Amino acid sequence: MKKNKRKYLKLISLTFLTTIIFPYNLLFSSAKKIINQDLTQEQKKIMFKEGTERPFSSPLNNEKRKGFFHCANCGAKLFSSNTKFDSGTGWPSFSNSLPGAFKTKTDYSHGVERVEYHCAKCGAHHGHVFNDGPEITGKRFCNNGLCLIFKPDN
Ligand SMILES: [Zn+2]
Repeated sequence: MKKNKRKYLKLISLTFLTTIIFPYNLLFSSAKKIINQDLTQEQKKIMFKEGTERPFSSPLNNEKRKGFFHCANCGAKLFSSNTKFDSGTGWPSFSNSLPGAFKTKTDYSHGVERVEYHCAKCGAHHGHVFNDGPEITGKRFCNNGLCLIFKPDN
């Protein structure tokens, strides 16, 4: 009888652990990244699998108004329009990001060493930064337009 009770308690605690802790982990790992549930498959592919959009496909290439560019996933403010320039590459390009907006890592995925950058707040991949930008900073942040939301000043 006692043995059965212990068995029963063990079963209860195991059920408790799997139902409480396991779904919590699943929730936690997804919440850590995808914040905007309206992201399209293409946006998710770029932001969470480090994909790249087709060059010249983003309407933001031609965006020339004053304002700020925000992360499409978490809304963090990333770039000022003051640093946007036409690089001719087909991707929205910036000579600098706002302070603390991004974290970087070295990426060897295409057989060359590149510096990948991602949103400091949500971890979403945005693009690569190169050292062939305009004079002031010498940097070129090559950003996927699909990762950005532009909010013009009014
Ligand atoms: Zn973000």
